Amino acid sequence: MTFTLAIVGRPNVGKSTLFNRLVGRKLALVDDQPGVTRDLREGEARLFDLRFTVIDTAGLEEVTDDSLQGRMRRLTERAVDMADACLFLIDGRVGVTPSDEVFADILRRRNAHVILGVNKAEGRAGEAGVIDAWSLGLGDPVPLSAEHGEGMDDLYRILRPIAEQF
Ligand code: GDP
Ligand code: MG
Repeated sequence: MTFTLAIVGRPNVGKSTLFNRLVGRKLALVDDQPGVTRDLREGEARLFDLRFTVIDTAGLEEVTDDSLQGRMRRLTERAVDMADACLFLIDGRVGVTPSDEVFADILRRRNAHVILGVNKAEGRAGEAGVIDAWSLGLGDPVPLSAEHGEGMDDLYRILRPIAEQF
């Protein structure tokens, strides 16, 4: 059986960028506009010597920072239920938003195994976001840059012991 990781979080935090990096192909759409990926996408991820299944959760058009459409919530719940663990991404340059808190709540209610990733943290750009992320109560935030490939070693160190159980 292979380990499945769902990448979840509000639109525009970099979920599809990370998915593409892990899968190594442009399977998921990446765009400057929030909500370009419309459904769940599955791919075979590779992170150093780890192989696992990764799910990219959808964004939706018309989802703003303050409102979270029911469909997006349901898709996230579906992904969480399909996965063995979730990588919950926030945007380290923006910090924790009300919709991040909604997602954190979904994950808590579903008792998901959560890894909290603070994306867009290349260089020192995510430092304030990392400090802010502690307020979500989801443990030790991991600074990442999906675009520049930073933090992949830390992600590996966290995922390896989880993946080895499968
Ligand atoms: P999604 O809606 O969560 O799937 O987000 P996307 O992967 O589509 O990315 C949204 C935007 O953020 C795009 O313009 C990406 O190029 C940008 N982005 C993604 N990851 C990073 C990162 O690590 N650093 C920076 N600076 N931008 C990023
Ligand atoms: Mg996307």
